[in-house]
Amino acid sequence: MPRDTARDPRYDILFEPVKIGPVTARNRFYQVPHCNGMGHQYPSSMAEMRGVKAEGGWAVINTEECEIDYTSERGGAIESRLWDDYDIPVLAKMCDKIHARGALAGIELAHMGQGSANCISREVPMGPSARPVDMLYPVQSRAMDKADIKAFRKMHVDAALRSKRAGFDLIYVYAGHDMTTLMHFLSRARNDRMDEYGGSLENRVRLMREVLMDTKEAVGDTCAIAIRLAVDEMAGNSGLTSTGEGREVVEMLAELPDLWDVNVSGWENDSATSRFSDEGYQTDYISFVKSVTTKPVVGVGRFTSPDAMVSLIKKGVLDFIGAARPSIADPFLPKKVEEGRIEDIRECIGCNICVTGDHLMHPMRCTQNPTMGEEWRKGWHPERIAPKTADDSVLIIGAGPAGLEAARALGQRGYDVTLAEATDRLGGRVAVESQLPGLSAWKRVADYREYQISQMPNVNVYLESEMTPEMVLEFGTDHVAIAAGSSWSDTGIGRANRIAIPRDAGAKVMTPSQIMAGETPEGPVVIFDDDHYYMGGLMAEKLRAAGHEVTYVTPAPDVSTWTHNTMEQHIIQTRLMNMGVRIIPLHNLTHIGAEHATVSCNYTEAETKLPCGTALLVTMRSAHDSLFRALEGQVESLQRIGDCHAPSTIAAAVYAGHRYARELGETLPEGTPFRRELPLLAAD
Ligand code: ADP
Ligand code: SF4
Repeated sequence: MPRDTARDPRYDILFEPVKIGPVTARNRFYQVPHCNGMGHQYPSSMAEMRGVKAEGGWAVINTEECEIDYTSERGGAIESRLWDDYDIPVLAKMCDKIHARGALAGIELAHMGQGSANCISREVPMGPSARPVDMLYPVQSRAMDKADIKAFRKMHVDAALRSKRAGFDLIYVYAGHDMTTLMHFLSRARNDRMDEYGGSLENRVRLMREVLMDTKEAVGDTCAIAIRLAVDEMAGNSGLTSTGEGREVVEMLAELPDLWDVNVSGWENDSATSRFSDEGYQTDYISFVKSVTTKPVVGVGRFTSPDAMVSLIKKGVLDFIGAARPSIADPFLPKKVEEGRIEDIRECIGCNICVTGDHLMHPMRCTQNPTMGEEWRKGWHPERIAPKTADDSVLIIGAGPAGLEAARALGQRGYDVTLAEATDRLGGRVAVESQLPGLSAWKRVADYREYQISQMPNVNVYLESEMTPEMVLEFGTDHVAIAAGSSWSDTGIGRANRIAIPRDAGAKVMTPSQIMAGETPEGPVVIFDDDHYYMGGLMAEKLRAAGHEVTYVTPAPDVSTWTHNTMEQHIIQTRLMNMGVRIIPLHNLTHIGAEHATVSCNYTEAETKLPCGTALLVTMRSAHDSLFRALEGQVESLQRIGDCHAPSTIAAAVYAGHRYARELGETLPEGTPFRRELPLLAAD
């Protein structure tokens, strides 16, 4: 048969259609449910984001967890909602966007039970047994009685019927994380009922079986019914395990659903970061599933390599390649495989910045994909960008994430771009930070862009070219963007100390920039982490591994506290404790002497002197903006982008570079630079 694409025949298997009950997926690329911080609050943003993925070739696109009833709601968390008919239009919009681009739409119906405090509805939460709710909120859930169980089953049926009316093709029964009532019923730790819904596994599975059968009866004629189950809770015998009860649940329900979506739980294990796990990290836990069911199986593991995907299908581990983060980082991943453009795949780096959107309740952002969340509100498409508006030339100084992305996107627009980089390699901070323990996948931020730029004749890269103001003026391009980055400050100024930390003559102070440049600290090291993201913890890990005596001090309650939002905090702290790093939380660093550092308690201000040969300050970064200052007023079109404007995350730098490229030469709307989604005022 003549081929109309340049697809490598090895990947043909990924494009086979697969039947799921009454519906058929066009290929094996399956976007599993994932939170996005848009949900019911930013419905047009959410719908367009999902629609773009359908355009990018995913065969099945799912919602995030969708609250099925007002008796189980997660307060301010921005998930999907299907409490009643009023919620149907929001989800119908998503379905329309997905269907218009040829994919199937799925919905993950969820009842959170013990996981919700019901702060909005003020209903008493309920679950299999009475327990405090999971969120830190002084509320307990009550044990469901028989009437509650009946009502619970009806909630699922009603939600399934509403889902069908909204246009969904696939409807989930969800027990994929330790978050939903159905999972709570399965759990011996949460379910100590004495009736037919507690005790033996057969009893604990009963409600799930009933809900599955109810859902099938209600909508199974036209909709596929999927089950999402965490087959291993990574909690040993106190939870489900893939060799024990997890496997038994699959065996008991094997042929009941039309599709098995299997993973590990809790969410932090399911969405493990690249710092602590490799691609395919779940495979050992889920590989048994296909041997106990004939129904199609989907699993995840941050899959970005088509060869690994093919191998999973051929080995009979999976029928569908499930992806949340890889589909966020590259909504066009399937299309790129289909068109034989493997090098163009923008691989997820496994940093979990996307997850922080859900935790902090704002539209999600992605380090690799600056258009994520901007598809509707700014009209940004991940693959398309408006052509240049003039035959102008642009000089970009600095090839970190900001400079690289600006060069790539401007190159795509057709501008004549020069990228000048002082060092002998591209990548800026990612080239350096990806050398730190566990961060090697972060290099993908530079790798993707380096390859793209290498394919563009209109982008010229100059390494070992440190630009001075004179050189810039001599260069004479129409536009200059300075992306010169930042370095860690040694003043100690930060959140806890708004002025420099006092120090004696002879005190030795270092910063992460120096450590990453290969300098070695002297004597016992006191790390002061007032930054709270990954760097302080990583410095402790690196120096302790190199044999230094390390004390980690932070005003926060725990190590690298912001990484609660990337779901890594517990692993980081455990690792440091196991390595023998002394941890002093809730203390500020107030003075640095030649041999001692003084820390003071956040509450009592009681002071403690710590032996200190080197104080390593992780507090803030200073922008490299001297070039910008020198050129101000001399270059008409001059901008700072990324960390040299204001240091932030790598995601923010990539976004800044992309935004610069998008906006160059364009007339921008006045006022708020994006479309808003406003609440409707009810008639009185
Ligand atoms: P960002 O995250 O904003 O992209 P980075 O710190 O990662 O910033 O990257 C900044 C890059 O700019 C580094 O690779 C650095 O070597 C380079 N750079 C800084 N000053 C100059 C300069 N004057 N000329 C050329 N390159 C520069
Ligand atoms: Fe992957 Fe990071 Fe993007 Fe999330 S934010 S999809 S983990 S690159």
